[in-house]
Amino acid sequence: MDRRTLLKLLSATALVGCAPSQPGNPLNVVVAGAGIVGASIAYHLAKAGAQVTVIDTVGPASHASRGTFAWINATYTRQPRSYHTFARASLSNWHDLHTELNLPVHWGGSLEWFADPERQQKLVGQIAEQLEWGEDARMLDQTQLTEMEPNVDFSNTDQAAFSGNDGTVDPVAATHALLAAAVKLGAVVKAPCELIGTTMKAGRLASISTNMGDIKADRLVLATGANPIAAEKFADTDLPQRTTPGVIAITKPLPPTINAIIAAPGAHFHQRADGRVVAGEQQGVPAGEAHAIRLEGRPNDYPDRSIALEHAGRIYAVVGDYVPALADAEVEHVYIGWRPLPLDGHPVIGASPNRPDVYLAVMHSGVTMAPITGQLAAYELLSGEQAPNLAPYRPGRDFELIKRY
Ligand SMILES: Cc1cc2nc3c(=O)[nH]c(=O)nc-3n(C[C@H](O)[C@H](O)[C@H](O)COP(=O)(O)OP(=O)(O)OC[C@H]3O[C@@H](n4cnc5c(N)ncnc54)[C@H](O)[C@@H]3O)c2cc1C
Repeated sequence: MDRRTLLKLLSATALVGCAPSQPGNPLNVVVAGAGIVGASIAYHLAKAGAQVTVIDTVGPASHASRGTFAWINATYTRQPRSYHTFARASLSNWHDLHTELNLPVHWGGSLEWFADPERQQKLVGQIAEQLEWGEDARMLDQTQLTEMEPNVDFSNTDQAAFSGNDGTVDPVAATHALLAAAVKLGAVVKAPCELIGTTMKAGRLASISTNMGDIKADRLVLATGANPIAAEKFADTDLPQRTTPGVIAITKPLPPTINAIIAAPGAHFHQRADGRVVAGEQQGVPAGEAHAIRLEGRPNDYPDRSIALEHAGRIYAVVGDYVPALADAEVEHVYIGWRPLPLDGHPVIGASPNRPDVYLAVMHSGVTMAPITGQLAAYELLSGEQAPNLAPYRPGRDFELIKRY
């Protein structure tokens, strides 16, 4: 771990006693899962001197980290305050990574409002709290909104919440960039390659087995996203999840049209640094047996392009209510993403209570949280110390259902 990173960690988390991996005797860490979370952990581990192997059943950013809206934020949804502070720290790390690895991040803030007057009133209170907590957040009236985003029609609201610190990223490009940086530091990426078992010797992890052979491992990181069986099978611990699907439709590159993330009634969308507009559906899965059958096995893609485009068309019809120029935008990709969503909505980060050599990193908002997760997981794995600000997110906690989607 370099001096700058260590100093930052010490000030952010009041950690003591970091013992980086020794040159000549590096810790062998296998990271299972090459989504944005696994990629960030691999990068931070490799940077700190570990011998890292990343494996993925399919390939980098093939699951949630592809089918994600990729909104990086520490807004009012981050509750309680400790979680908000955690998200803020990750935003700060995103700024560092943005410059360090030239990642495709766009910082344009977000604008959000609701149709339901009661919900909108609650938002006003939530933004006031954000202001108290030091966020760049405020309610803007229609004139201010139109000045900020002249191509957006705000006629269905009097005001919207502006959160100035928010950003977005191309999550696929960022995942690949993190992995490429890890490889430069000596990491190895193997895909397709599926984790299928672990071998213990004298109570410690000795190696892991994959469908491509065995790999020596002192530690195993499960950054396996929404995989429902990984925690129980490889970490001997229960990780209750409430995984839900979402649809993301991405256009071809377009001329600059919007700067902020727009989270409006019926649609949320943003324009990436590369000009592509990303829109997410808000309705959720239609009830009924037909959809339930289609979603069995958790597909990440539609059975054919015409069905995919039909779904995208529905999403962009709503987007077009706000930005008419986008109603007929040519859609390039439509993905189904499955949210890795621990039951209480908070990340799961830390060693398994029953398998200390197996480390879990499973979370929603994994795009927002990838940088801090990578940094702190690398610290904990290499030092054997515990980062105090990870205390609320340990795998052994009691999970209570919080319905977020
Ligand atoms: C529709 C949608 C919208 C979202 N919006 C946002 C947002 O706006 N902001 C935000 O911060 N987050 C958002 N999220 C959540 C975020 O995308 C995820 O939390 C994040 O992508 C998780 O990254 P990950 O690397 O943990 O998981 P994934 O990207 O799912 O990667 C897990 C990887 O593990 C691999 N794997 C699984 N099992 C094995 C095994 N046995 N062996 C080897 N490999 C294995 C898989 O192949 C997969 O590639 C959204 C998610 C969805 C679906």
